[in-house]
Amino acid sequence: MSPSPAAGGHSLPAEITVRRPAMKEFYCGAIIHGCETRIVASAEDDLVRAVDTHARVDHGMTDVPEAMLDQVRRSVRDVEPADLRD
Ligand SMILES: [Zn+2]
Repeated sequence: MSPSPAAGGHSLPAEITVRRPAMKEFYCGAIIHGCETRIVASAEDDLVRAVDTHARVDHGMTDVPEAMLDQVRRSVRDVEPADLRD
């Protein structure tokens, strides 16, 4: 019989909690006046990439300046998954 991996002084955790990750939310109107598009992603990097794509595709920007993406990062807010219902 092989020994259990838990043996030998390693104590098992009393509790493991897996928290649902908060989503990141951004309103395009924060950088482009008059746009009401809301962008939601599970990670800030994904969100910034989505904003970049949205700006190019929907606003016809050929180049999204880094300063604008910094502004996006500053305007991102966490939103609980339960709050995402429309
Ligand atoms: Zn927009």
